[in-house]
Amino acid sequence: MTDRRPYIGGNWKMNTNRETAATLTRDVVEAIGDRASRVDVAVFPPFPYLLTVGAVLRERNSPITLGAQDLWLNPDGAFTGEVSAEMLEDCGVRPVLAGHSERRQVIGEADELVNLKVRRTLEAGLDCVLCVGETLEQRDAGETDKVNERQVRAGLAEVTPAQMPRVVIAYEPVWAIGTGKTATPDDAQDAHAKIRSVLTDLYGQHLADATRIIYGGSMKPGNAAELIAQPDIDGGLIGGASLKGADFGQIVAAAAG
Ligand code: PEP
Repeated sequence: MTDRRPYIGGNWKMNTNRETAATLTRDVVEAIGDRASRVDVAVFPPFPYLLTVGAVLRERNSPITLGAQDLWLNPDGAFTGEVSAEMLEDCGVRPVLAGHSERRQVIGEADELVNLKVRRTLEAGLDCVLCVGETLEQRDAGETDKVNERQVRAGLAEVTPAQMPRVVIAYEPVWAIGTGKTATPDDAQDAHAKIRSVLTDLYGQHLADATRIIYGGSMKPGNAAELIAQPDIDGGLIGGASLKGADFGQIVAAAAG
């Protein structure tokens, strides 16, 4: 066992509206109860609802952290459609996702851009959840560890040891995201252990041991406990199941032990 504090993030993706974002936040706060004292919990709503969700969290005096799904590299200026770290911070955001597979696969973000976003997030004083993971083709070709290593090394290029305590790595096999398919606890543990060994090579044992590596890919109440029980799995990044307060609460309960 480790003394890493579990981390559970709810990635709402492009879901909810002004009303349901507020309702879901209230449901999540209620479902989690006082377990947020034993687990770091963050929710990542769509940009337009950040203030709404943040207001509910404040009103409930909740320790749940407000996160954002993306950012752009410049503080302000002529970047139509983009949102800066400064704007997010102004809205009360702490953690920001980088390299989510939907941005890599659907929007076409490459490792270099993901790295720039990671660095910008950290330079701005925010926390970063760097997502990595192989596609089904890469898995079938036996390239899982190679892909994860490349994405971790590229994503963390020029990230300093002093910044690493503000980084969480999310291992999210692309074939498991939103599909109902989940990596077996053994396979996920194996991938996490390999990622930790890459971190050891980059930053040394101490920082590698301290860094949370969370699993994402159809994690739900029925499989969360077994996954999180693995020695190198420090929590989860949850998509579908984060849209139901009770389900998300059960996953947080599994992480709280
Ligand atoms: C995700 O979006 O990061 C994710 C893991 O989604 P899901 O839980 O729906 O597979």
